[in-house]
Amino acid sequence: MANIAFIGLGNMGGPMAINLVKAGHQVCVFDLSADAVAHVVEAGASTESNAIDCVKNAEFIISMLPAGKHVHGLYLTEKSGLIHHIMKGSVVIDSSTIDSETSIKVAKALSEQGISFVDAPVSGGVGGAIAGTLSFMVGGSKNEFGQVETILSAMGKNIFHAGDHGAGQVAKVCNNMLLSVLMLGTSEALQLGLANGLDAKVLSNIMSKSSGSNWTLDVYNPCPDVMENVPSSNDYQGGFMVDLMAKDLGLAMETALNSQSSTPMGALARSLYAMHAASGNGGKDFSSVFNLFSK
Ligand code: NAD
Repeated sequence: MANIAFIGLGNMGGPMAINLVKAGHQVCVFDLSADAVAHVVEAGASTESNAIDCVKNAEFIISMLPAGKHVHGLYLTEKSGLIHHIMKGSVVIDSSTIDSETSIKVAKALSEQGISFVDAPVSGGVGGAIAGTLSFMVGGSKNEFGQVETILSAMGKNIFHAGDHGAGQVAKVCNNMLLSVLMLGTSEALQLGLANGLDAKVLSNIMSKSSGSNWTLDVYNPCPDVMENVPSSNDYQGGFMVDLMAKDLGLAMETALNSQSSTPMGALARSLYAMHAASGNGGKDFSSVFNLFSK
């Protein structure tokens, strides 16, 4: 069993750290929020008063932070940055969803100190984090992928090697850009059917068995009361927030700009989610874009 430090115990990081404890690993946790720490310590983790003391003896360091600036600050800040305190030969796993440029920069700086790094963003949401069924998209060398696979399997079901450093982040934004477009298209089609007298359950069933079939129709229908146990049937509470989807679409657009790629559907999706968030829906589940098309 491994000695692991886990930094960032929010909606995702908290349950992920608990699953590592359940798998029998020695886990030392740290977060700026004392409540977040207490919850994971109750489940069997240890803690220290700062991140530096947590990582000192760790073979693996996992971070799950909001954005690139937090990841850059945690590892590369002068003196207090963890780069100055992590043991040579240890492996850093950053599971935050951030820009691939920051991942590559952190990977390079760490490798110069003899520390391995993978970017390993996840898909599967809070439910997947609690159930230990996340998908991990890993960016790093073949050797680094081999080093982290067993650790990640305590928190996830599907562990993919996307390519070299930064490739995990690129895979993540491609997936979420596609998901955002599918959710908008499904919402638009369902509202068109409703406006023309169709029943949403009947139309959903027809499309999910026809060529329009997709994940949002099969397991995450955006129309209230078509499915049980999805956010749309619970006033769009829980699930994956509009604000987070808007953030991921911003990352997708940056990625597109950097590679001069054409992403017209993603660009429109980013604007629609940003507009929806600006109208006060940022904290709702992303399937609430269904209401953008209501009459
Ligand atoms: P969150 O805001 O709930 O948690 C982030 C945690 O990081 C907070 O507890 C905060 O106190 C802590 N933190 C910030 N800076 C810190 C520092 N310097 N040291 C220690 N702790 C620090 O966010 P989340 O929902 O857990 O998401 C984390 C990441 O996972 C994000 O990048 C997000 O885009 C991604 N993600 C989220 C979901 C989801 O459904 N929530 C799904 C997939 C990916």
